[in-house]
Amino acid sequence: MQMKVAFLGLGAIGAPMARHLAPHYTLSVWNRTAARATEFAGETGCRAATTPADAVRGAAIAITCLPTSREVESILDGEDGMLGAFGRGATLVDCTSGDPATSLRIAAKLAERGVGFVDAPVSGGVSGAVKGILTIMCGGDEATMARARPILEAFGEKIVLCGPIGAGHAVKAVNQAMLGVHIWSLSEGLVALQKAGVAIDTALDVINSSSGRSNTSMNLFPERVVTRSFPRTFRLALMDKDVRIAADFAREYGVPSPLLQLASELLREARRELGEEADHVETVQVLERWAGVQLGNKT
Ligand code: NDP
Repeated sequence: MQMKVAFLGLGAIGAPMARHLAPHYTLSVWNRTAARATEFAGETGCRAATTPADAVRGAAIAITCLPTSREVESILDGEDGMLGAFGRGATLVDCTSGDPATSLRIAAKLAERGVGFVDAPVSGGVSGAVKGILTIMCGGDEATMARARPILEAFGEKIVLCGPIGAGHAVKAVNQAMLGVHIWSLSEGLVALQKAGVAIDTALDVINSSSGRSNTSMNLFPERVVTRSFPRTFRLALMDKDVRIAADFAREYGVPSPLLQLASELLREARRELGEEADHVETVQVLERWAGVQLGNKT
């Protein structure tokens, strides 16, 4: 008999992750907007659950992939919540890019009912999820991790236990802070270079053969800014949330972190200007507006 697995949150990255589970497990999916779950179930042959409780009942492993830890916590309690429906010995694997403090609270509530918890945020974007080659950074104990790992292998390639509960979220937040800083600093630099008469593709060509290069300069900007295509794969609102987690995390540990605090403020401002649906790479358009140029145009 196949193991029962539940997946909650069929968003931009959740849906392609869940798709890898459907052929191998008896899968139940739940999504706040029910139509998405029904459509997904129709396409993959899994079951669309009506509530979070309905999804996790009888499941050995449940995976959540929601915007923040707050939404995960919000589907825990109450008649429709996961908490009362989990069987003893089940495990909640939270692939949300969440925050360590909330996850510790969630894990404590689950532990009272004999349910394990692993935080397991992912990296690699929607394309990595589609290909099943995500990097997954985990927090939890070895025994719970051993139960979660085979499931995570369905959509992950590099799966690392980083430390106790919350460690996965913390590593993810720091990674996202680096991404936010790279996008912002490259935007400032390229806008200034263009004003000085240097073409953006010339600048990127040189930077990408030099020590300042990053995934942002090597992939994101050539594919999205040079072409002005700006596909919406990862919302700026989510990156803003991630960098704020990193900034709060550093502050909580008493680490002087002026750059992280400033990056968090700037990305919050970009989110205000561009709105909830903007992609993270669209951040460059804030700098373009402020400077009165558009990258790629010889103005
Ligand atoms: P989306 O915004 O595309 O999807 C969010 C999902 O959460 C949807 O299923 C949505 O349901 C659900 N949701 C939103 N609010 C609530 C709520 N109050 N209660 C219950 N469910 C809710 O996000 P992504 O899929 O892009 O991201 C999910 C997580 O993965 C985030 O933490 C993000 O930071 C992380 N991540 C995303 C990456 C990406 O490239 N997209 C890359 C790496 C990590 P509904 O359909 O009803 O709106």
